[in-house]
Amino acid sequence: MGHAEYLHDVDSVTEFLLTARRRGITEVGFADHDYYADQFNLDALRAAAARVPQIRVRLGIEIDFQLGRAGETRRPESAFTLDFVIGSVHEVDGFVFDMPTSLPGYQAWDIDELYQRYYATLAEAARSRRFDIIGHPDVIKVFGFRPKGSASGYAEHALRAIKASDVAIEINTNGRYKPAGEFYPARDVLERCFDLDIPITLSSDAHAPENVGRDVALAAQLAYEVGYRRVATFANRKRILQPLSNKY
Ligand SMILES: [Zn+2]
Repeated sequence: MGHAEYLHDVDSVTEFLLTARRRGITEVGFADHDYYADQFNLDALRAAAARVPQIRVRLGIEIDFQLGRAGETRRPESAFTLDFVIGSVHEVDGFVFDMPTSLPGYQAWDIDELYQRYYATLAEAARSRRFDIIGHPDVIKVFGFRPKGSASGYAEHALRAIKASDVAIEINTNGRYKPAGEFYPARDVLERCFDLDIPITLSSDAHAPENVGRDVALAAQLAYEVGYRRVATFANRKRILQPLSNKY
């Protein structure tokens, strides 16, 4: 899956798909943030998909979930025929924590408290039942700030909410290229997801064509090691479990 600031241009969408094909990927979901939804160009997406028929193309959206604004998005997901809706948390109690400009804001936080509040928000996102997938489930580690307590312990409550709400999570490879230096979620969180029987999807969170499918083979291998044998894909908001290969 990838974000697609490039979704307006048939040539750049084609580049995403050709990269995916080179990497042996057979299905790609494009999901931009809800606030870019006006820039979706479905004609470009369709035209590019027709040029690369070996790839199944799915359309999604990533919604920025904020506590207390559960019913609001800049554009409702119902405005499109979507294959999947990702719910993600980028903001805790008014603190947008994942931008380069966020760094000074960390001074004001106790990191353990921040993790607790992040996962409480994530649990609410799951409970809202508006989402098919919870995006980058432990992105609170993005800048490498680690709690004194157990990070997976703080995640536990949210993972149970995710399971109870029957939502999938994504393994998002992008975290490896951030100060956190590892996939979202970390292996121990993923192991807990497997114990709880939470379905997974694989995402490279690609913002540029060359990053489509980056490390997805590694993510698949990790999931396989943890015990997963199936991976979720989505069509028209229905979850379809497919065999997970540890080889691409
Ligand atoms: Zn996100």
